[in-house]
Amino acid sequence: MVIKNVSLDIVCGVTSTLPKTELPHIAFAGKSNVGKSSLINALMNRKSLARTSASPGKTQTINFYNVNDALYLVDLPGYGYAKVAQAVKEQWGKLIERYLQNTGELRAVFLLIDIRHDPSANDKTMYDWIVHNGYEPIIIATKVDKLKRSQVPKHVKALKEGLALRPGTAVIPFSAETKQGREEIWELAESLLFE
Ligand code: GDP
Repeated sequence: MVIKNVSLDIVCGVTSTLPKTELPHIAFAGKSNVGKSSLINALMNRKSLARTSASPGKTQTINFYNVNDALYLVDLPGYGYAKVAQAVKEQWGKLIERYLQNTGELRAVFLLIDIRHDPSANDKTMYDWIVHNGYEPIIIATKVDKLKRSQVPKHVKALKEGLALRPGTAVIPFSAETKQGREEIWELAESLLFE
C-alpha cells in the first residue's frame, strides 16, 4: 500500500451511534499497551497520528483513520487496563461488541498480542468474541524486536496454544521499531479488502 494521505476522520465514543461509512474497514483490537497505536502509526507511515500511551487505558473511543480515501483503519479501544472501573470496562466491551455486530463494511480483524507474554484471559475472550461474530482474526505478535530471533518460533507456538487458535490462523510477528511484518500485514489486509 502506497500511503498518499491519512486523517483521523471519526471518533466514536461509548454512547455515540456508530458512524455510517462507505469505505471498507480493517479493525485492530488488543490489550492496552500492546503496541496498537504504534502499529497503526507504522502502517500509515506516521510517527504519532494514533496516540501512543502516555495514559494507557484512557482511550474509550473507536477511532477511524481514513487511508487514501480507500479504507478505514479502525482503532478499537484497548482492553484489560487494571486501573479502570468495572463499569467502564463493561462500556468498552459493549462498544466493541456493537461495532463487531453491526459493521457490514468490516473486512478483517487483527488481534494484537505481545509476543513475550502468554495470552491473558481478556485476550482469549476477545479472540473468541471475534470468532463468535463470524470473523477470522489475524494475530499480530507485537514487539518482536524484544526477543532474540531464535526465541520467536517458541513464542509463536505458545501464543497459538494459549489462544487455542483455529488451524490455519495467520500469526504475523511485528515490530514498530524495525517495521518487521509491516508489508505482510498490508498485503493480507489488501487481499481481504478487495477480494
Ligand atoms: P497501545 O496502548 O496498544 O496503543 O500501545 P502503544 O503503541 O502506545 O505502545 C505501548 C508501549 O510499547 C510504548 O512505550 C511503545 O513505545 C512500546 N512499543 C510499541 N510497539 C513496540 C515495538 O514493536 N517494539 C518495542 N520495543 N516497543 C514497542
